[in-house]
Amino acid sequence: MPEAAVYLDNNATTRLAPEALEAMLPYLGEQFGNAGSGHTLGRLSEGAVVVARERVSALLGCAPAELVFNSGGTEGINHAFRGVFEALPAKRHFVTTAVEHSAVLACVDWLRRQGAQVTILGVDAQGRLDLAALEAALTPDTAMVSVMAANNETGVRFTLEEIGGLVKARGILFHVDGTQALGKVPVDLARIPADLFNFSGHKFHGPKGVGGLFLRRGLRLRPFMIGGGQERGRRGGTENVPGLVGLGVAADLARTHLAGDSRVGPLRDRLEAFILDHIPGSTVHGAQAPRVPNTSMISFADVEGEAVLLRLDEAGICVSTGSACTTGQKEASHVLRAMGAPDALGAVRFSLSRYTTEAEVARVEAVLPGILEGLRGQGGLARRQA
Ligand code: PLP
Repeated sequence: MPEAAVYLDNNATTRLAPEALEAMLPYLGEQFGNAGSGHTLGRLSEGAVVVARERVSALLGCAPAELVFNSGGTEGINHAFRGVFEALPAKRHFVTTAVEHSAVLACVDWLRRQGAQVTILGVDAQGRLDLAALEAALTPDTAMVSVMAANNETGVRFTLEEIGGLVKARGILFHVDGTQALGKVPVDLARIPADLFNFSGHKFHGPKGVGGLFLRRGLRLRPFMIGGGQERGRRGGTENVPGLVGLGVAADLARTHLAGDSRVGPLRDRLEAFILDHIPGSTVHGAQAPRVPNTSMISFADVEGEAVLLRLDEAGICVSTGSACTTGQKEASHVLRAMGAPDALGAVRFSLSRYTTEAEVARVEAVLPGILEGLRGQGGLARRQA
């Protein structure tokens, strides 16, 4: 990233914490042993993975043995859906929501191709789930309910304890895509009645390509990858030792920051209040719902979000128009469509992190009103650079 850029796209990915990088370096250098090897070098790596597992399970509130390390959110979601589909052949109904990440929606398509029935629950204008509709959707044939802990576009949080209570009372498995919540809000799997919970290191200042899936004790799924029996036979493949070391340190740092005062929520609220006050026709999506403190999805009437993104980029400010995976498709976000938002094409996502400073927010405040005025003067459309 250019030296002076303001990075407000932390729901796409976060910068690696310097402490995590420092802890990883020896494992990219002289401590390169395979965690499965019996010699001293191997045992050093094995020990590092044990420590990482303890650190991450402390952030989640689970036992270290309940964690399967993997390559991140997408893999955990695939493992959950395919694993439960195979483990419960007598149950062929799944329930999820219209605002899930594309990894869940792709797994839903896969389930349908296997002949399973899937109920997709809608949300209200604030992105909230209707618990009565969820309850009505559950049948004796329901194998699993899958919901996200926090939405990647709006930051809206689902009420996991309530949803899980309803689901578990009927003996149905409960999967949570925790990718956008872990590290941003406290997560305690001793209280959230999830059977499966996936997460990803690069969303909370850990490295990319490393994450995990919590499988509650007693839940047996086929391994997602068969191979050398790593991860207690639940995910084959030589462990990514440097990545896991970084993940562990990132988990420790997140726990410390969550326990202390956070500046992120007040900074996000300040930016939102400024935009609503100074830019007419702005709407914050999901503002009335519980949200993670770092995210603000804002529509600007009569202007395409992509045009705003490009102008902000020219000013050295990185934002998004929705989930990173769908950027480039000029289509209203499926999340905002599910919320019935009229200005869905105008939406811009600002996602902050604990590294975001007041001066950076002030830079956005200094340029954004002028960008919107300029675009509205030109008809508001995106002009892609050739
Ligand atoms: N689930 C949600 C809610 C996400 O936001 C993302 C990433 O954007 C994923 C899953 C996929 O995670 P990963 O990038 O680790 O595969």
